Amino acid sequence: MMDTREGLYVHIPFCRQKCLYCDFYSVQYSENLADSYLSVILKELQALNQDFSSIYIGGGTPSILSQVLLDKLLSGLKIFLKPDMEFTIEANPESLDSEKLKLFLDKGVNRISIGVQSFDDKKLNSLGRIHDAKGAMEAIWLSKKSGFKNINIDMIFGAVGEDLKAWQAELEKASGFDVQHISSYSLSYEKSTPLFKMRENRSIMPIEDEAMAEMYRYAMSYLPGMGFNHYEVSNFSKPGFECRHNLNYWDNDSYIGLGPSAVSYIKGVRSENVRDAEEYIDRYEKGVSGITYSENLSGVRMAKETAAVKIRTKQGVDYEWFKIKTGFDFDDILEKGALEELFKDGLLEYKIDKAIRERRGIMLTEKGFLFSDTVSSAFL
Ligand code: SF4
Repeated sequence: MMDTREGLYVHIPFCRQKCLYCDFYSVQYSENLADSYLSVILKELQALNQDFSSIYIGGGTPSILSQVLLDKLLSGLKIFLKPDMEFTIEANPESLDSEKLKLFLDKGVNRISIGVQSFDDKKLNSLGRIHDAKGAMEAIWLSKKSGFKNINIDMIFGAVGEDLKAWQAELEKASGFDVQHISSYSLSYEKSTPLFKMRENRSIMPIEDEAMAEMYRYAMSYLPGMGFNHYEVSNFSKPGFECRHNLNYWDNDSYIGLGPSAVSYIKGVRSENVRDAEEYIDRYEKGVSGITYSENLSGVRMAKETAAVKIRTKQGVDYEWFKIKTGFDFDDILEKGALEELFKDGLLEYKIDKAIRERRGIMLTEKGFLFSDTVSSAFL
C-alpha cells in the first residue's frame, strides 16, 4: 500500500439565512450556540493525536463566526500546522472583512474559498443568496489585497432563466479576477430544499438539460483557455493550485470530519456524525459518540469506491496506481459488461502510454464529464 495522507475537515454549521438550493446541514447563527459548539470542537481537536496533510474549515459559513470565535477556532488548530500544509477556510462575501482576513493569514490559513456563486444580482436573488454582485467582487479584491495567494471562487450555473450568454459573461468575470481556482457547479434540485418544492409546484421553470449541458461544455472549453486546468468534474485551477484536500478525497485517502453531518473515512470505515449541532454538543458532553452511521468499506467494496471517486479526475484511473492503492486489478472489480457499456456510450476512453502504445488506464471523455455521476454509479 502507498503512504496514506489524512485530511482534517471541520464543519461550521451556521449560516445567516438558508439558500434556496442548499441541502448542507446548517442552522441559524447564534453567538452562544457557536461558542459552545467550538468549545466541543476544540476538545475534540486536542484529543486528536496525529498529523494531517491538509486542513479544511467548511460549512455552513465559517466566516460568519465573530472575530473572537474565529480566533478561538484557529488557535485550536495551530497544533496541527506544518510548513507547506494546505489550510483552507470557506467564506461568504457578506461576512468577510479585512480584520477576519488578517486573522486567517496570521493563523496560518493559506487558501480561501469564497462562495461567490454569481456576479448577477437577479441570479443571486433567485438562489436565495444574501450577498450581491458588488459584495462578491469586493470579497475577492479584499482577499487579494490582504495577501491571499490561493483563492477559489465557487460559481453556480443553470439557474432559472439563465442562458448561455449570461453564463459566458459570468465566466469571463470570474476568470478575470486573477484567482487561482474556480469551482463550477450545476444547480441541482435536492429533495429537501425550497427550490425543489418550487419546481414541484411549478412556481419556477428549470432550464432544459441540454441548455445546462451547453453551459458545462462552455466552461470546459473556455476556462482552460484562460489558464485553468480542468482537473476534476467541477474544478478548474491554475497549474499547481489544485485543491490538495479534495485530491485526497478523490484518491480515496483517509480524512477525519468534525462537527454535525461531517463524514470521516478512517482505515476503511466511513462514518457520519449526527446532523444536529445541539445534539452533537449534548452527545459530547454526555460522553456519547456523535457518529450515527458507519460502514466498513473493505476489500472489493473499497476498490470500487476508489474507482468511483478517482474517475472524476482528469487523470482518471491508472491501472498501476489502482493495483498499488487497492490490491485489485481494475478489470476484476466490475460486473462483466458494465465497462463495455460505458465505452459504447462514449463516456470513457483509454489512457494510452504512448511510448509503449499500451492501455494504462481509463478516463472520462468530454461526454463522460457530463455524465460523471452515471459512470461513478456504474462502478459501485
Ligand atoms: S451559505 Fe452555503 S451552507 Fe449556508 S445555506 Fe447557503 S449554500 Fe448552504
